[in-house]
Order: sequence, then structure tokens, then C-alpha cells
Amino acid sequence: MASVTYERVDKVYPGGTQAIFDFSLAVSDGERMALVGPSGCGKSTLLRLLAGLDDATRGVLRIGGAVVNDLPPQRRNVAMVFQDYALYPHMTVRANLEFPLKMRDQSRADIARQVAWAAELLGLDELLDRLPRQLSGGQRQRVAMGRALVRQPTVFLMDEPLSNLDARLRVQIRAELSELLERLSATTLYVTHDQAEAMTLGDRVAVLDHGRLQQVAPPQELYERPANTFVAGFIGNPPMNLFSARLNAASGGGLQLRLGEQTAPLALPATSAEGWRVWLDAPLTFGIRPEHLRLAEDCEESVRTTVSDAEYLGHETLLHVRVDGLDPAGSALVARLPGIRPFHKGEPVRLSLDSARLHGFGSDGVALAGLG
Ligand code: ADP
Repeated sequence: MASVTYERVDKVYPGGTQAIFDFSLAVSDGERMALVGPSGCGKSTLLRLLAGLDDATRGVLRIGGAVVNDLPPQRRNVAMVFQDYALYPHMTVRANLEFPLKMRDQSRADIARQVAWAAELLGLDELLDRLPRQLSGGQRQRVAMGRALVRQPTVFLMDEPLSNLDARLRVQIRAELSELLERLSATTLYVTHDQAEAMTLGDRVAVLDHGRLQQVAPPQELYERPANTFVAGFIGNPPMNLFSARLNAASGGGLQLRLGEQTAPLALPATSAEGWRVWLDAPLTFGIRPEHLRLAEDCEESVRTTVSDAEYLGHETLLHVRVDGLDPAGSALVARLPGIRPFHKGEPVRLSLDSARLHGFGSDGVALAGLG
């Protein structure tokens, strides 16, 4: 296996669409890097550049330290797995697995050994004589993985490999794939638009928007310390609540949040209160995760809201509200509440927010520094 680096890469397609802007990323040997972002943000382009299916307009691509910009695809030794598994329909599973090796002129003994190895690893032994149409979606997906594996590539590139599977199978295969990649210690770039998939499969996750890298971090860090409002609003389901507000000095010397006409006192730890104070009275965007909002019986430290909807999920209720007195466009919040509690539309509820979990972003959307 090998490390992968992108150094200041731009990609402009013929016709002038710039898909990638000044993209730099270092993936270590054996690391699983998930690339995530909305459709059209440039994820597939990044894989295609590394595989050699397209050329970078600017910048350097390295595999195992060596510059590969000018190497033809077959000499880069990367294997790609796509969403449409593209198995040969008239060939058995065995023949599908053998195919990439035959193309390489390997000896029959070597081919048989590698196919047996991949089949065992992926639990395909029983299926070797079947045709793709005699397999389930999950099994076909495993054969596609096997076809990438037998070549013993230095890097795996996976482009939405699970997106054709139904929701349940997807979660099952995701767990299998995660375990397999861990066992192989395979350097992997895994493209998905699904943040949950990125968070479960990536050792680190790189978030892209409009061809630009927004943040790269381990899943927990991405969740707990999003670098900007885009990442905050993309990671998490439901994502972080974002709303415009200001910080005011409260009468007792503390800080309070001003949302329209309402104020809510903040109980901040002393260390972060100092950091926040710098931002007094500035127009800011605040962020709070749905699980850090609570129903408040005590009216002092809470925000008045009105229920717009409630999703009863059994183990929890997602309560959708609008903050009273704010412009409807920016007043929606979602609270994740344990268990089931009936709510009706139009009902007034008070929500308190866990001040220590409050995120702040400047007018440029970038997370405020020094909040402890
Ligand atoms: P993603 O994989 O994140 O959905 P892509 O990498 O496929 O995004 O596409 C990134 C951008 O580049 C999009 O705006 C897309 O329309 C454009 N694009 C992709 N392939 C081509 C191409 N061959 N020619 C022109 N534009 C392209």
C-alpha cells in the first residue's frame, strides 16, 4: 500500500467548468479517507485525477511519494470500485474475478491463488460458479470489491460503491466493508454524498463544497469542531441548527444571547466566556446541535418557540420549532428529545440551549477562534 497526496490541484474541464480549486490533501499509507460533499462538489473528479482517467490542470499528484501526473492509468496500480458494479453479465463470478489478472498476463497458478484469496476474504467461495444475475445486490457488490482486490492495488478508490443498495443492506455492507478495509490496511479514498457513510468508514473525513476543501479531520473532531457553517450544516442528521444572533452583556456581568426581541442568559465556563467576550454585539451565526437543546420548564434561561412539526421515531422525537419573533426564514430549530412526547402544531414550547455546546461563526461563516 502507499500514501497519496494532492498538492494544490486545480481541475478545469474543457468548456471551462472548474471542478477543483487549489486542493491539497495528504492520505497516509493504510489510511481510509472519506471524501464527502453534495452532488457536483468535485468528489468523483478527485478520484478520476488520481486514477489517471483525467489530467489535473495544475498541481501535483503523488502515490507512494512518486509524482504520477504523467503516468498512464495502468501504471498507477490503483483500483476503482464504482456504484454500478459493471460486472460482466455473461461471465461467472470466478471469470469476473480472473478477468483483471488475465489482462495482466499472469500465470494460471498465480491467478487461481489470488482469486481463491479474494473469494475467501469476501465470502464468495460458494458463489464462484454463478452468474451476476443470480446474485443479490450485496453479493454483486462484493464481487466488484473482489475484482478490485485481486489486483492487489496500492490504493483503492471507491466512488459511491454502496449507493445502489437498499437502506438495510447498505448499513450491513458498510459494516462489512469497514471491517474488510481495516483488515487489509488498505489506503482508500472513499467518495460518498452520505455523511453517515463518511463518518463510519473514514479514519478521517474530507468535506468538499463547490470544488474546495472545507475541512479534513477525524469524524469526532468534524462533529464537535466544524471549521465553518458549511461543515456544521452538512455533518450530523439532523445537522447543526444555525441561527443569527448577537451576544450582549447581561446585567449580572455575564453574557446573554439576543435573538430578535428575546434574550437568553448563557451559562458559559469562565475560560470560554473570555473568548466569547471579544464578539460582544457583533452580528454572528450561532450553532447548536439538536441534542443540545432541551425542553425548559424554567422560563428564565430559555427561548420561546412555536412547534411546527414533530417526528416520532420511537426512541426519540425530533421537534421542529420556530423561534418566536424572528424572521421565518432564519428561525427554524430542531431539537432531539429522548422518547416520545406528544406535541401539536402551533403549541408554544420553551427550549434551553446547552451554552457550553454553543458554536460561533463570523460573518464569513468561519468558526470563531478562542472559545475554549
Ligand atoms: P461529484 O462527484 O461530487 O458529484 P463531479 O466531480 O462529478 O462531482 O463534478 C464536479 C463538477 O465538474 C460538476 O460541476 C460537474 O458538472 C463537472 N464535470 C464533471 N465531469 C465533467 C466533464 N467531463 N466535463 C465538464 N464538466 C464536468
